[in-house]
Amino acid sequence: MIGSIFIPISVSKAYTNRYKGIKHRKKTKKAWYVYGYDYDEWKETLKFVSHKISSLKALWYKKNLYKIKYYFCNDCEEELPYFSNHWYDKIKECGICESNDLDNY
Ligand SMILES: [Zn+2]
Repeated sequence: MIGSIFIPISVSKAYTNRYKGIKHRKKTKKAWYVYGYDYDEWKETLKFVSHKISSLKALWYKKNLYKIKYYFCNDCEEELPYFSNHWYDKIKECGICESNDLDNY
């Protein structure tokens, strides 16, 4: 099924009220936020998004964050970015031409 995939990049704790000039008291509430990209499989676009999450989910996301890495496709002769995390370490197929002739770094 085609939909959208959320790619988490960072997790941080921030004030729920983030306007300029506001002085935060010690008891001001903080909340966890996850930042990342929504990949739309249909339109093939990336959108930067942030979501408010529970502390439990923050822990989970922290362990499953993605990093932006690059590979070189020998068929496209181009350096291209991809997202990876600890369980999806290396890309094996070019996202553009589906070639397997890649150099990962
Ligand atoms: Zn390629």
